[in-house]
Amino acid sequence: MTTALPIPNIELNGGTQIPQVGLGVFLVESGETERVVSEALEVGYRHIDTAAVYGNEAEVGAAIAKSGIPRDELFVTTKLWNDRQTDARGALEDSLEKLGLDRVDLYLVHWPVPSQDTYVSAWEQVLDLREAGLTSAAGVSNHEVEHLTRIIEATGEFPAVNQIELHPEHQRQELTAYCRANGIAIEAWGPLAQGKSDLLTQPRLVEVARAHGKSLAQVVLRWHIENGTIIFPKTTRRERMLENADLFDFELTETEHAFVTALEAGRNYGPDPREYGAN
Ligand code: NAD
Repeated sequence: MTTALPIPNIELNGGTQIPQVGLGVFLVESGETERVVSEALEVGYRHIDTAAVYGNEAEVGAAIAKSGIPRDELFVTTKLWNDRQTDARGALEDSLEKLGLDRVDLYLVHWPVPSQDTYVSAWEQVLDLREAGLTSAAGVSNHEVEHLTRIIEATGEFPAVNQIELHPEHQRQELTAYCRANGIAIEAWGPLAQGKSDLLTQPRLVEVARAHGKSLAQVVLRWHIENGTIIFPKTTRRERMLENADLFDFELTETEHAFVTALEAGRNYGPDPREYGAN
C-alpha cells in the first residue's frame, strides 16, 4: 500500500473530515477510469469525486478494491442525477453497488433543476440516507442562494457542501459569502476553468509562477486553497496528479493572491443552474 500525500483535511459542518484536494473524474472515459483512479491512489490521493451520470462509478470502485487502502482512509463523493430526484434511495443503492461500497462519504444533489421542482424532496431524501448511514455527509451541487434558502427553510438542515463552478474568472461572491456565513463548505468544480480559458497563459500569473518555481496551474490551485475551497482538478496524467496536489510548500503573497482575484470576469463555462435540466 502507498502513502497518502500531505494534504490537509477540512472539517465539514457535521464533523466529517474531507481532504482539501482530490481527483475529479468527470469525462474520464470508461476503459480509462480504473487506471486513472488506481494511479491517483498510488501517488497518494485519498479523495475521489465522481457522479452517477459520469458513467464510471464501477471503474472507480474497481480501482478502490484493488488498492487495498482501508476504507476509512478514503473519501468518496458521488451525486444524485436529475432523473432520480424522486428516488434518491434507489439511486444511491445503485451507485453503492457499482462502487462496491456500503456507504459513500458525501452524497450530493447534483443540480437543482428548478423546472422539475423536486429538489427540496431530493434534499429531504438525501438527509434520510445520511440518517440511514448510506452516506456520512449530505450536500448539494450547483445550488444558488435561492435554492439553498429553500432547502434550509424546509428542513432546518444546512448542506455540508455546495459544489459549484468556481475559478478566478467566475468567483460567485454573493453565493460564496452566503455559504461561508452558513457553514457550508465550498467545493470548486472547474477549478482550472476546465481548460477552456486562457487562464493558464496570463502574463501576470507567469511571473508569479516563476517567482515560486511552480506552474501556472499550481498558482491558480494554491489561490483556491488559500480561499479555503475544496478542489479536485481533473487529469488523467500521473505527473499532473502530483503537480496538482503539490500546493502546500509555498504561499502567494497578498499582492500575488490579489493578481489572481483580479481575473474575475463573470465568465462561466458550464450551464446556468437556474436553467439547467429544463426540457
Ligand atoms: P478542471 O478545471 O479540473 O479542468 C480540467 C482540465 O484542466 C483538463 O482539460 C485537464 O487536462 C486540465 N489540467 C488539469 N491539470 C492541469 C495542469 N496541472 N496543467 C494544465 N492543465 C491541467 O475541470 P473539471 O474536470 O470540469 O472539474 C473538476 C472536477 O469537478 C470534475 O472532474 C468533476 O469531478 C467535478 N465537476 C462537477 C460538476 C458538477 O456539476 N457538480 C461539473 C463539472 C465538474
